[in-house]
Amino acid sequence: MESSKIVPLLKRLGLNTYNVDKKSHIEVNTDICINCKDKPCTVSCPAGTYEALPDGRIAVHYERCLECGGALVICPFGAIKFRFPEGGISYRYG
Ligand code: SF4
Repeated sequence: MESSKIVPLLKRLGLNTYNVDKKSHIEVNTDICINCKDKPCTVSCPAGTYEALPDGRIAVHYERCLECGGALVICPFGAIKFRFPEGGISYRYG
């Protein structure tokens, strides 16, 4: 693909549509997160699904999830349980 035809990531993400479920499809054992110093999930997720809280736990903004599964791989303690949501994301590009 010519570089002039490459659409920037944020523009591509902006084309997606979401059908947000009432219940989160992500469960995190936040007791484990307290002892996770670097909290890699909070910096690796391109959608900002995981947010570090001042008390050492994390908040999960499941409605932002792109369903890539990256957080499951990067979490060093297996603290995340994930299922595909009933609604979820509909990709419009790529
Ligand atoms: S990487 Fe895992 S243990 Fe660490 S903060 Fe994220 S979910 Fe919690």
